[in-house]
Amino acid sequence: MDAVEILKGLKDKGVRFTPQRQAILEFLLATDIHPTAEDIYKQVKVKFPGVSLGTIYNTLNMLKEHGFILELTCGDMSSRFDGNPVNHYHAMCNRCGKVVDFPCDLVEMDKYVAEKTNFIINTHNLVFYGICPECQKEQQH
Ligand SMILES: [Zn+2]
Ligand SMILES: [Zn+2]
Repeated sequence: MDAVEILKGLKDKGVRFTPQRQAILEFLLATDIHPTAEDIYKQVKVKFPGVSLGTIYNTLNMLKEHGFILELTCGDMSSRFDGNPVNHYHAMCNRCGKVVDFPCDLVEMDKYVAEKTNFIINTHNLVFYGICPECQKEQQH
């Protein structure tokens, strides 16, 4: 989905978007680094110096509640945000914090868990932790 479609979807739900909020959404859709709220804040601030971290959190929560983005909770580290809400998986580097996507049939796990527990599964959150290739190279030096 692109920003225009999402904004239209939100408008249909009665949610109005300021240019600041729009910039948050556009940044998130254009990047694959899975930024933290602080990363997004730094970026949006370049164009909108008046933006507050509160607005960033607010906007992210709202987009998340409406199912347009994903939040990856990473233990005691800052949450990372993903403009791709379709279920996919992530590997995170313990050393530099890089997060990469990988597609995987494990999505079928929703069905498996639903069968075993009789829950209606809406979503799940799975992150694999390790050391990325760049950090592996650095460790060898
Ligand atoms: Zn790394
Ligand atoms: Zn992702």
